[in-house]
Amino acid sequence: LDSRLPAVGTTVFTVMSALAAEHGAVNLGQGFPDFECDPKLLDLVNDAMRSGHNQYPAMAGVPALRAAIASKISQLYGHDYDPLTEITVTAGATQALTTAILCAVHPGDEVIVIEPAYDSYLPAITLAGGVPVTVPMQVDDRGYSVPWDRVAAAVTPRTRLIMVNTPHNPTGTILRRADLEALAAIVEDTDILILSDEVYEHMVYDGERHESVSRHPVLAERAFVVSSFGKTYHVTGWKVGYVAAPVALTAEFRKVHQYNVFSVNTPMQHGIASYIVDPRPYLDLSAFYQTKRDLFRTGLAGTRFTLLPADGTYFQCVRYDGISAMPEAEFAQWLTSEIKVAAIPVSAFYSQPRESGIVRFCFAKRDETLRLALERLASL
Ligand code: PMP
Ligand code: GLN
Repeated sequence: LDSRLPAVGTTVFTVMSALAAEHGAVNLGQGFPDFECDPKLLDLVNDAMRSGHNQYPAMAGVPALRAAIASKISQLYGHDYDPLTEITVTAGATQALTTAILCAVHPGDEVIVIEPAYDSYLPAITLAGGVPVTVPMQVDDRGYSVPWDRVAAAVTPRTRLIMVNTPHNPTGTILRRADLEALAAIVEDTDILILSDEVYEHMVYDGERHESVSRHPVLAERAFVVSSFGKTYHVTGWKVGYVAAPVALTAEFRKVHQYNVFSVNTPMQHGIASYIVDPRPYLDLSAFYQTKRDLFRTGLAGTRFTLLPADGTYFQCVRYDGISAMPEAEFAQWLTSEIKVAAIPVSAFYSQPRESGIVRFCFAKRDETLRLALERLASL
C-alpha cells in the first residue's frame, strides 16, 4: 500500500511503555495516572448502564453532558457556548483534534504548529492534505516560550489554522494573557482559525489561572477549543472529550464527526454528566497535582538533572547534560533499560531532528511510585 503517512512509525508512547514493561521500569514515560479514579464516578457509569443507557446517544453528545460542559466553561472562562449548536462530545481529545483539522483544512492549506508539539497534530494535518508550518519554541534557563514574532512571520495568504496547546505537553509551560493578546493580534482581521488543545486546563500551578482561548473574544469567535475527561478525571482509557466552537465551525465539525465516529459511548457520557455537576473534582485538581509536582521536583533537586519550570500539565522536563551526552531517544532508552525509570525524549515532539538534551517525566503517579523513581534517579 502506498502509505498516506510514510514518515510515521509507532508512537513514542507505545514504544516507551512497551520498553518499560520489558525492563520492569517505573513508567514515567507515557502520560497516564497509576491510581484509580473517584469510585463515585464508577458508580455513576454503572448506574447509567444498568438503567438502560446503552444504545446510540445523540450524535453530538448526551444533552445533559453538553449542557454541563457549557455551564462549566461559562463559569470558569466567561464564554457562553450554546450546548445545542456549539458543544460536541468526542472520543477523546485526539478525535476532536483530528476531526477539527479534517473539517477546517483544505488540501494545500497551511497550518502553523508550534514545536515541540503533541504527536497527533502533524499526521492529522498531513491526512487532510494540509501543509504543516512549524515554529520552534525558544528554550533557555527560564524554560520554554512561544516566539510570537516568529509565528507572525510564518503567516502567509495560505495559512488556514494556527494550533496552540496550553498547558503545554511536553514542556509544562502555560500561555498567559500576553500570549493570547499576541496571538489575537496575529489573527485579527484575517480568516485564520485557531485550534486550541486545552486537555490540561485543570492542572495549572502556583496560583496562576488557565488562560483558555475561550476567554478571549477575538480568539473565541474563530476557535475550536478541545478538552478531555481522561485527564481531568484520571480515566485516560475512557476516551471521552469535547470540542467547543462557534455555531458555524461546529456545524462543519459535526459533518465530519457524524461519519468519523457518529457518536461517543453512552454510559460514560451519562456518568460524567452526573459527576461534572460537582465542580470540586476539577477545581481541586491543580492542588492535587501541585503536591505531586513538588514532591517530584524536590526529589530531583538532589540529583544531577536540571529542572525546567513546570507551570502546568502533569509533566516535568529536565536537562540531563550533567549526566550524559547521549541523544535524547538513546538516553531515554538507556534510562529505561538500565536505571529502570522510563521517560519520553522531547525530540519525539519535533518534526525535524532536534536535540536539546531534555527528557519528559510524568508525575501523575502514586507518591510511592514517584519515590521509587527518585531513588533510582538519585543513583545517577
Ligand atoms: N492533546 C494533548 C496535549 C495530550 O497530551 C493528549 C493525551 N495525552 C491528547 C491531546 C489526547 O487526549 P485523549 O486521550 O483524550 O485523546
Ligand atoms: N498524551 C499522553 C502523553 O503525552 C499519551 C497519549 C498516548 O499514549 N497516545 O504521554
